[in-house]
Amino acid sequence: MPRVPSLHTHSRYCDGAGDIQDYVAAAMAAGLPALGASSHAPVPWATDYAMPLDRLPAYAAEVQRLRGVYAGRIDVYLGLELDYRPGVMAFYRDVLAPYPFDYLIGSVHYVGELDDRPWAFEASPGVFADGLARLYGGFTRRLVADYYALVREAAQVPEVNILGHIDRIKMYNVGDRYFSEDAAWYRDAVEETLVAIAASGKIVELNTSGWRKANPSPFPSPWIARRCAELGIPMCLSGDSHTPQQVAYRFREGAALLRDAGHREVVGLVGGQWTPLELKVDG
Ligand SMILES: [Zn+2]
Ligand SMILES: [Zn+2]
Repeated sequence: MPRVPSLHTHSRYCDGAGDIQDYVAAAMAAGLPALGASSHAPVPWATDYAMPLDRLPAYAAEVQRLRGVYAGRIDVYLGLELDYRPGVMAFYRDVLAPYPFDYLIGSVHYVGELDDRPWAFEASPGVFADGLARLYGGFTRRLVADYYALVREAAQVPEVNILGHIDRIKMYNVGDRYFSEDAAWYRDAVEETLVAIAASGKIVELNTSGWRKANPSPFPSPWIARRCAELGIPMCLSGDSHTPQQVAYRFREGAALLRDAGHREVVGLVGGQWTPLELKVDG
């Protein structure tokens, strides 16, 4: 098992199962040097997965308590996964200011609005198909362009450290139902985005949860991870864990993928610093 931090974890505070302490214990059992809690941040619209705003004080306090309990054994970090949408950062800056977050993951789970609500394109295959038809007239290329423009915007947010599952838009592209990743227009959209990310200095995660989805492929696809290596974009390993058992979900395969893609190391928070860690697949 690669001994790298697990920084993308969802607990009972949002849509995950188990207490944060269960994740810390699972990370220790897996030999990881650090565990970061990254619940879905409270958002100013209705969802069934995000942490309610009034839970934020208890969440921050619980992570800090566990940091003390586990001091000297495993690092425990306070993070969040932000839903990036245009204009939302003012809300986050306001509600997150009182807390000492160690890191933030910036993820795009919405594109535009449908029926006067943010359109959660990844909510289900049906929601995806419905929005694609009604917002884009079925023109996938325009949706993809809008999606990657949002990823580039998220990369410009100073507070964001890690960009989450950057090619999430492929989530329901089972059997290339909607597009081919080999299409020049798709590759161009990704390339423009990676160039912007490289300039931003952000970390891109290799999110292994993609292997649990209908279209079983990590986020991002291996060819994108390879371009990240070529462009000098640092990457980390994420399980996007929703149960303690997923704390290092397919980290071994993820590490092998990154190594095959040309990465010599991954980055992780260790001792409070973003640190390059040698990529050992079997170590
Ligand atoms: Zn996410
Ligand atoms: Zn997540």
